[in-house]
Amino acid sequence: MPGSARRRKAGEDSRSRGHIALVLAGRAFVRGRLQPVEIAINDLGRIASIGKIRAGEERHDVGDAVILPSATDLHVHFREPGGPTAAETIATGTVGAALGGVGLVGDMPNTRPPVTDVESLQEKSNLVAGRASVDVLLYAAPTNSSALPSLSRRAGGFKVYLAPTTGVETPPTVSELPELWRRLTDLKLPVSVHAEDPALFRGEVQPTNPIEWNAQRPVAAEDGALARLSLAPKSLRLHAAHVTTVSGVARLRSAGLSFEATPHHLLLSDRSGGDPQFKVNPPLRTEGERRELWEAFCRGEVPILASDHAPHPRDAKELPFERAPSGVPGVETMLPLLLARVRSGELELATLVSAACDRPARWLGQPQGRIAVGHRANLIVVDFKLRSKVEGKRLHSPCGWTPFEGWEGIRPREHYRDGERIVEDGEFVGRPTGRVVRPEYALGESSGASPSE
Ligand SMILES: [Zn+2]
Repeated sequence: MPGSARRRKAGEDSRSRGHIALVLAGRAFVRGRLQPVEIAINDLGRIASIGKIRAGEERHDVGDAVILPSATDLHVHFREPGGPTAAETIATGTVGAALGGVGLVGDMPNTRPPVTDVESLQEKSNLVAGRASVDVLLYAAPTNSSALPSLSRRAGGFKVYLAPTTGVETPPTVSELPELWRRLTDLKLPVSVHAEDPALFRGEVQPTNPIEWNAQRPVAAEDGALARLSLAPKSLRLHAAHVTTVSGVARLRSAGLSFEATPHHLLLSDRSGGDPQFKVNPPLRTEGERRELWEAFCRGEVPILASDHAPHPRDAKELPFERAPSGVPGVETMLPLLLARVRSGELELATLVSAACDRPARWLGQPQGRIAVGHRANLIVVDFKLRSKVEGKRLHSPCGWTPFEGWEGIRPREHYRDGERIVEDGEFVGRPTGRVVRPEYALGESSGASPSE
């Protein structure tokens, strides 16, 4: 690609125009529908214009394929620092993301040590630099109140767990929540919440399969916690993670809150498989509840799709059910699985692009997720004829398994990051140039601040 040393034409706004380095031609998802266009990408990696392009050094016609914005997955667990690196690292996880058409991930803070202050945040930032192949937004856990002001100027968001989880043994109590919400409202960052109320778990059940797991952590525990979220201040940028039922969808929509659903809660039920590979929090629900959630998603009532990518080593998932850890891998398969549903006619492409690309990028304050002038040229090329089977051993994650073994997927043929091709013919060809990003609306140090600041 021609370098930025080339002269720009006098009078051009360098941010939106610049020198045209690449023109992508074909059917692209622009302003809500697929239409034949040419997309000019400048040497700053931004979309400079959309339409008929005369200039341009390199021109690439995608043929029968379609050009979409790359996805943003605002919920992943890449297991660094602290491991188990036999499951995932920031290096492997971001390559998996790239292969799955995900150009930005939000990494959760419950690593070891958990991200609870500027020092632990810096430790994780250092692991991103030179190792990540897509951009990474880093969440922090607001468990240390004296660290909150400094954290809020460096972190990309906060994650609050209302139930105990790895690295967060003591979630805030009901009486502590109003004060926590008030403090987080002042800090302006997005706040993702794991909403399950442990007081409503049924401890007497000894779970040995996903059906019993669902009975132990019932829908009522999720509903109870979601009801509490609707009491938070309206100015708090609150987002409910992994909502599993239509009652939750209805509650959050009427409260005007952001939320996500995962591919596993949309596509799998508590009867999809009996072994610990299907153990996840919140649990997989009944087939009837799953179908209702899927139908709500297809109607566009779920604003955001996120993977909750949480891989574990295969041997940990082969422990007896009650001792096996919860979580499934998903960042590499999220978009391919849902693109296959677009191909089969069950899901509108516009609904998928909104939930996987546009809305999550807006939520995190990122100039991407839409094919629009001035946005980053973070794009994928999808050929709907290139169907393949999801196979754990072919995933980039070292965990080597997936609950979607044998499912049909459509993997992106190409992936561009700032106009640079990082996936070609379904193979990763990029470099570890991913950056730590923060919402453009965030207070404090700007995105891309050098790690030494
Ligand atoms: Zn999670």
